[in-house]
Amino acid sequence: MRIGYGYDSHEFKPGIPLIIGGVKLPHYQGLGGHSDGDVLLHAITDALLGAIAGPDIGSLFPPSDPKWKGSDSAVFLREALKRVAEAGYKLSNLDSALILAAPKIGPHTVAIRKRVAELCKIPEDCVGIKAKTPEGTGTDNAAIAHVTVLLVRNS
Ligand SMILES: [Zn+2]
Repeated sequence: MRIGYGYDSHEFKPGIPLIIGGVKLPHYQGLGGHSDGDVLLHAITDALLGAIAGPDIGSLFPPSDPKWKGSDSAVFLREALKRVAEAGYKLSNLDSALILAAPKIGPHTVAIRKRVAELCKIPEDCVGIKAKTPEGTGTDNAAIAHVTVLLVRNS
């Protein structure tokens, strides 16, 4: 078995769509930075790559490369899953914690879990989505994601 851990954060910027876990959420601002700013898919990608001691998402898909501007983050996740398979493993389950002040994630948890399960090709009950508010951390203008994954041998 292998365990992996991923972390990511992005700053909120007005006038762009908010995409978390491959789901577009209704909100007046979105996450800037790398690609489509999908903080959850980036953390999952890094957790998968970390579990096989691979290069991290920033090395594989440099944020400085204009090619990835506005890109669908599912592309990065697919590459990580491909590398996991090549290393002889498959994803067993993942757990995540999202930290953001707004919007409330609760009403969207089911949709996010469904989409992440689809993208990762694992059952929905193998995807943990937990949302917290950034109490006392002063990060109200950011979205943060922590992710752990468990890989098992692909027999
Ligand atoms: Zn990111």
